[in-house]
Amino acid sequence: GGALAFENVQFGYEANRPILKGVSFEIPPGGRLAVVGPSGAGKSTIARLIYRFYDVTGGRITIDGQDIRQITQSSLRSQIGIVPQDTVLFNDTIGYNIGYGREGADQPAIEEAARGAAIHSFINSLPEGYEAKVGERGLKLSGGEKQRVAIARTLLKNPPILILDEATSALDSRTEAEIQSTLDRISVRRTTIIIAHRLSTIVDADRILVLEAGQVAEQGTHFELLAKG
Ligand code: ADP
Ligand code: ADP
Repeated sequence: GGALAFENVQFGYEANRPILKGVSFEIPPGGRLAVVGPSGAGKSTIARLIYRFYDVTGGRITIDGQDIRQITQSSLRSQIGIVPQDTVLFNDTIGYNIGYGREGADQPAIEEAARGAAIHSFINSLPEGYEAKVGERGLKLSGGEKQRVAIARTLLKNPPILILDEATSALDSRTEAEIQSTLDRISVRRTTIIIAHRLSTIVDADRILVLEAGQVAEQGTHFELLAKG
């Protein structure tokens, strides 16, 4: 599963002010689409519509061919993980931040789950010794470390569809590149949407969609877009 499609999607937050003006794309299961474009183009709106924070006003969004309005909210949201740009962490342990809301309120269970995720996914890429610190309170984390925790939290859901909404763009470019390369390793076979305004972030996408003022300006592989100049 995990095929995602937008079919002529239209949306506006307010009446008579369209934001998305007929956006169409298809991502096969495990495909990676990068959405780029200037600020205000409607990139984050695409992410919000997939998670159904809002509903489309025209067209439809499907997962594996099914209109997402026909999927229960809990089922839909269990299939999708979103990592936003600005992560707010609880003033607590890494383990709590990763596991909270996933494993109930039972602290040992949360931290156990976080350790499992740590070994199997993202926390592994934190600097030496972090895994052992998964239960330590009051850690001072850098922006990059916070984003790794946020990503680990999302990956613990094991969502077939992953949306990275400028998830690394607030970081310095070296940290961004490090996190991206870890993501590239672990998100293989996971349908992924990478929202970015920097082209450097999207080297590993299969396809690129350029969004401008709510419309698809260009769509294709790197090669096709380069050929067009
Ligand atoms: P991008 O992610 O490409 O920067 P957004 O999807 O965040 O763009 O926003 C697209 C447009 O929608 C912008 O003009 C923005 O001001 C507007 N917008 C975003 N969120 C809301 C909202 N909650 N209410 C009204 N307008 C909004
Ligand atoms: P979690 O599953 O991590 O508890 P949610 O499923 O509630 O989080 O939300 C996923 C992400 O979407 C969170 O990072 C949250 O900050 C963000 N989010 C929540 N509500 C909105 C909204 N109305 N618009 C955009 N993003 C939102």
